[in-house]
Amino acid sequence: MSDYRADILAIAAHRDDVEQTCGGTLLKMAERGYRTAALDLTQGEMGTRGTVEDRAREAEEAARIMKVGWRQALDIPDGRVENTYENRLKVARVIRQLRPRVLILPYWQARHPDHATVATLGYEAAFLAGLSKLDLGAPSHRPFKIIYASLYADVRPTFVVDISEQFDTRFAALMAYRSQYDDQQAGSSLFPRKEEIRERVAAMAGFYGLLGGVRYAEPFVCKEVGLVGDLLAIPVQSI
Ligand SMILES: [Zn+2]
Repeated sequence: MSDYRADILAIAAHRDDVEQTCGGTLLKMAERGYRTAALDLTQGEMGTRGTVEDRAREAEEAARIMKVGWRQALDIPDGRVENTYENRLKVARVIRQLRPRVLILPYWQARHPDHATVATLGYEAAFLAGLSKLDLGAPSHRPFKIIYASLYADVRPTFVVDISEQFDTRFAALMAYRSQYDDQQAGSSLFPRKEEIRERVAAMAGFYGLLGGVRYAEPFVCKEVGLVGDLLAIPVQSI
């Protein structure tokens, strides 16, 4: 077990989810000097393209590009991510090991059931991780802040993170999943071409950027209210 500690931990169902929903934010935070980490709950054995080994290698490369200092995948079955006590313990162990202050989870409503489940599973695992009488072999820890990456949810974000400077690198991280995104024959009716993917990714980031008054951004929802100390420092122009 490594002794890596993370300021920010992103948890997702599948390898490449983090790249799609909060990769630019992770990169930006790493560039600010924060230690970042990503935990993928599944290994991708149900994917139409590529093998588990391909995806492991690609995830490692993507992490390097996003400057994510720690990345691992659990062994929860792909397409069957369930919020069981056993799975909550697996995630809680990682939270205790890494001791993040900020936890990024997927938004709780999603087309893919695995994504929606991770929102609840991650939250409940964070709660368990803070129970001092629960013996998991590492001291208890609870993240201070939980935010939900909402890129694929039809919901108004609480805030967006400006990733204008990180957009290209974040796209490169996504393209590190060559078994998924390289133009190829297998599943070509299902998977859009690389050029189209870039257009879509840019359109999404551009939309959220527009909401924040910047070029590209990633959206997040959080359940608590915002707290302001200085009215003159509130960003995003009203009129
Ligand atoms: Zn996914």
